[in-house]
Amino acid sequence: MRHLAGRRLLATARTWARGLLHGRPCPICAGPARRAGATWRHAYLRCTRCGLIYVAELPGAAEVHAAYATAGSATYQVEHKRDWAAWREHKQRTLDALGLADLERATARKRALDLGCGEGQLLTALRDRGWDARGVELNRSLAEQARALGFRVTTAALEQAEPPDAPFDLLLLFHLLEHLRDPLAALERVRGWLGPRGWLLVETPLRPDYDNTDHLYCFSGAALDLALRRTGLLPRRWYDYVDDCYRHHNLAVLATPA
Ligand SMILES: [Zn+2]
Repeated sequence: MRHLAGRRLLATARTWARGLLHGRPCPICAGPARRAGATWRHAYLRCTRCGLIYVAELPGAAEVHAAYATAGSATYQVEHKRDWAAWREHKQRTLDALGLADLERATARKRALDLGCGEGQLLTALRDRGWDARGVELNRSLAEQARALGFRVTTAALEQAEPPDAPFDLLLLFHLLEHLRDPLAALERVRGWLGPRGWLLVETPLRPDYDNTDHLYCFSGAALDLALRRTGLLPRRWYDYVDDCYRHHNLAVLATPA
């Protein structure tokens, strides 16, 4: 155990040094950055202009995708999920706080796509509200679980997915953006799957979670606002709150094509 702790300490020192050496400018606003923290896996920088926290050295796409595609009990899977009914009820409150009911009244077709849908619990919450909800999920085992609940799910990374049923009235990126290598490219890509009167919902943690080494970014409100605007999306409604279940401070936003 002590041996492992020593190795982690050494690896953390190494990421600090590499972070200083390879530190890139802010990928959202190109502003300058300062050191923010380091783990055994990543060194993080904080943009002094927009507040984005980001990995100094971007891991390769194959490495990032492999972590999700193969992990049967990846951190993103096990952490939440103690009481699904409570989790869904909690998410319904978030959707209500963002005024989703207004959209539901104004949208006849109600076709939704959840990117990174996991086991299909958010899909279930949407179905309970009358949405025709589908998903995209990289992890095969999670995608299977969502299919077993009756949902149509494409097994793919967001960067490669070609959802067959576009355009959608509602796209959801729930705790996904912070895991992606290139959030701007991802937003640009999913905007193309949105109908002209469609809505995009993004939720992401507002505080850095250095224990979760899958997080490549932590957005501030300013950084998320800028990322949306730079990709042709207009933020309309914001909601930040502390998660009842896990005490995470989250930021949610509903945006439309600009
Ligand atoms: Zn920035």
